[in-house]
Amino acid sequence: MVNEAMFAYGSERSAIREIFAYATARKAEIGEDRVFDFSLGNPSVPAPPAVRDAIVRALEEVPSTQLHGYTPAPGLPEVRSALADSLNRRFATTYSGDDLFLTAGAAASMAMTIRALTSPGDEVMVITPYFPEYRVWIEAAGATCVEVPSKEMSFRLSVGNVQQAITERTAAIIVNSPNNPTGRVYRRETLVRLANVLREANAHREQPIYVISDEPYREISYGQEVSWIPSIYPHTVVCYSYSKALSLAGERIGWVLVPNTLPDAQRVRSSVAGAARALGFVCAPALFQRVVAACADEPADIEAYRQNRDLLCGALGDVGYTFAEPEGAFYLWVRALEPDAQAFCDRARELELLPVPSDSFGVSGWVRVGYCVDTNTIRASLPAWCELARMYRS
Ligand code: PLP
Repeated sequence: MVNEAMFAYGSERSAIREIFAYATARKAEIGEDRVFDFSLGNPSVPAPPAVRDAIVRALEEVPSTQLHGYTPAPGLPEVRSALADSLNRRFATTYSGDDLFLTAGAAASMAMTIRALTSPGDEVMVITPYFPEYRVWIEAAGATCVEVPSKEMSFRLSVGNVQQAITERTAAIIVNSPNNPTGRVYRRETLVRLANVLREANAHREQPIYVISDEPYREISYGQEVSWIPSIYPHTVVCYSYSKALSLAGERIGWVLVPNTLPDAQRVRSSVAGAARALGFVCAPALFQRVVAACADEPADIEAYRQNRDLLCGALGDVGYTFAEPEGAFYLWVRALEPDAQAFCDRARELELLPVPSDSFGVSGWVRVGYCVDTNTIRASLPAWCELARMYRS
């Protein structure tokens, strides 16, 4: 016997993984440079030299048994303290290492935080379109995933829709800005309005509604301010990761922040620690704890992503595609040229173009184009995008 829910998660079809597997096989068949794989969110920019330096320094300076040994469950105190200091410099806050719990990336941070803040039967709101794993983490906690539509066509956060979806079972809302898959960065005014709506709802409840801010793309913004949500709404827990900012996706390192300004912070912090225990997510990778402490103030190199975004948006705009102008992250959210996004992707595949249909993200009729690829891939794909548009016109 196995657990049926886990069996379903493990065996259900993942569109993204399937496209990636197809792309790998197809590249072997017809050549790397003839297949345009836009499926994954794997950073295409190398990790900064400071990462390598920090790894080498740690290997040279820290005795092996310490370097590779267990750390305390929430991470090394000196690392948590260095990361808190870095946040304080950036956001004029007064956090300490106690506010941080180091994790194996945002996936662990989110799974732990959702588990910590919900009880079975609670509801967690997600804004559509949304990162597909949210549903898995919410349901695995015994809670219900409530889909709240973003604004039509613009994909901005609709505070009105959030307000309408609040029930007495609402425990939390997941905010992801910069957003995967739309590239939207939510404006400060919108987040202030969201905070006001949540405060108003809280006035009639015993438990506040939490904001779970999923921020793996915080550093990838093309000019828009990425607001620090705990300064706008106190019941906010932040889930962060170095996967995208420092191109360390495979190393699995990030954190959960329960800010000292959060009312009842100690209780929430203990619940996060308890969820880490329950899920087996204690002691984040020890070498990379030290590396991110050394690189805490390292800026993300986003110029290649900006160049890719400009190239792709310019060319797709010229041939008449409709898309959400990406303000952050490294995804372009493009309207399919027919209502069925899967059928559109099938036609795109004939031209070796491999975007992801929007159905995976909880909406129909759009596709996600991950432009975290070599700029030459973008350039080489442009004739195929034109040809695809032409096929639909004729
Ligand atoms: N949240 C979002 C919105 C993501 O896009 C991803 C990864 O792509 C994650 C969480 C998980 O990130 P990590 O690699 O840090 O686990």
